[in-house]
Amino acid sequence: MAERRSETLRAIGDVEKRTLFANILASAAIIGLSQTLPNATAFYLPALLRFVVIFLSAIVYTRIRRELGVNAPTMTTIYFGVFVSLLGGLSWGLLLLPVMLEPVLHAASFMIFGAILVCVSLISSNTSSAPHMWVPFILSFLASALAGLAMDAGPLALQFGLGLTIVVAVLTLFSFGTAKQSIRAADMLVENRRLGEELADALSHAEFLAKRDPLTGLYNRRAVFEYRNHENARNDRAHVMLIDIDRFKQVNDRFGHDLGDRLLVAIATVIRDTLRELPGETHYAARLGGEEFAIFLDLSEEAEASAFAECVRMKIERVAFEFSMPEGLATASIGLSHLDRGEPIAHSLQRADTALYEAKNAGRNNVRSRDRELAA
Ligand code: GH3
Ligand code: MG
Ligand code: MG
Repeated sequence: MAERRSETLRAIGDVEKRTLFANILASAAIIGLSQTLPNATAFYLPALLRFVVIFLSAIVYTRIRRELGVNAPTMTTIYFGVFVSLLGGLSWGLLLLPVMLEPVLHAASFMIFGAILVCVSLISSNTSSAPHMWVPFILSFLASALAGLAMDAGPLALQFGLGLTIVVAVLTLFSFGTAKQSIRAADMLVENRRLGEELADALSHAEFLAKRDPLTGLYNRRAVFEYRNHENARNDRAHVMLIDIDRFKQVNDRFGHDLGDRLLVAIATVIRDTLRELPGETHYAARLGGEEFAIFLDLSEEAEASAFAECVRMKIERVAFEFSMPEGLATASIGLSHLDRGEPIAHSLQRADTALYEAKNAGRNNVRSRDRELAA
């Protein structure tokens, strides 16, 4: 509701901005024409009021546009706007009076009468979707014109009064129609914006899910191979660790799949927490599948990477202990290799896999580095 009001006000403010010049021009033309009438001086005061109102409404709508732009409260400006709308209706009503009170009809009188009604109609149809602006405007216009006529009931007062009331009645009906249309447009805008936000949320959630492993919340294979998370590495040489949990099939067979799952989650938590201790935010861990994890370390030094791998290995061993695993079950064998910038990660993982195979062959629960052996 508040959003709809903001949108209708914004739309009114936009039209007011674009029609400001036309408003000034029309007022000036009417006042200019009035100077050809014998009672020209009677137009001075309403003309002055007209220009004051133009100036004040420019301030009101500029403030409204600015406040809506920064989501600031608009209430005070709206109160001011109600007052300016009252003055606006009054200024047109008073401008109409000298025309209607002149006992003799002149050609210019008709032109001024018509021009004022056209201006009032345009303003009325633009502001009709904001009743707090529109109602004071139209009422003060009608009231001032009719009150003036009643006070000085000239020979044409009845005809003018009747004509004016009919015109305003028709105008009101017409304005209800345009108000409905503007409100519908504002509702559509609000609804479109809401749908847009929902869609953006859904997309970012979908992107999050597409990159995540549902069991552990770590990144998944796609994050590694498709989205290539490692490409924002800071170092030209980084390191990749491949972790395979030892004898995990036995864990499932002896203690059940559920416990196996809980163990995988606990291992993932340990990996994530250990990774958080490293400075920088470009490292990440992924579950490649089953009981196999990969860690991308944005560390250029092999010694640092293997110290980290050793730390993770020990922590996983502790998790196995906390889960009361028998000796040799649910520990980690880790293969380590470097990854140079621009090199496909599959190459590095291949080397890490060879190192991992060696770690398994060497009795499990240890870290092997492919690089060190190649260098040796
Ligand atoms: P190794 O020490 O040689 O790695 O022996 P292993 O038993 O870990 O090796 P293997 O690859 O034969 O077995 C992996 C097992 O991991 C098989 C499967 O039961 C289990 N596993 C794979 N994915 C999941 C999972 O999501 N949850 C659970 N609980 N177990 C899984
Ligand atoms: Mg395996
Ligand atoms: Mg295994």
